[in-house]
Amino acid sequence: MCIFCEIINGNIPTNKVYEDDYTLAFLDMGQTTYGHTLVVPKKHVDSILECDQETNRHVADTVTYLSSLLVKKLDAKGINIVSNAKEIAGQSVNHYHVHLIPRYSSDDDFSIHFSENKTDLSEVLNKINK
Ligand code: AMP
Ligand code: ZN
Repeated sequence: MCIFCEIINGNIPTNKVYEDDYTLAFLDMGQTTYGHTLVVPKKHVDSILECDQETNRHVADTVTYLSSLLVKKLDAKGINIVSNAKEIAGQSVNHYHVHLIPRYSSDDDFSIHFSENKTDLSEVLNKINK
């Protein structure tokens, strides 16, 4: 059983933030920023790439609810919402999870960088839509 399934089943203690029939949210033990929280579906799926739409709707509902709640209660200025899918993208636990990372200042402990690259956009669209 994976480590997040162990948490969901109550075999490993956790700091629960929220729970409903379909999802669980708990504090990430790394606390990249203050209040860093993970949202997971109770049903095991490896990543968003294997997740059915209905399960993902429940995850999205919890992400939406908790994002506002964390910003409000923790007095954050914003929040990053990230899900890593597969090792290449930085996924280390193979149970789908969404990181909620409240932001307090631009030089806190989390950063994400979008570089710009020259790309043939019509070629990309053709590949996606073909
Ligand atoms: P990722 O690298 O996107 O797969 O994220 C996995 C996250 O799970 C990391 O941020 C870890 O700090 C967190 N994590 C791993 N084990 C636990 C645990 N038992 N309780 C809380 N967070 C955990
Ligand atoms: Zn699992």
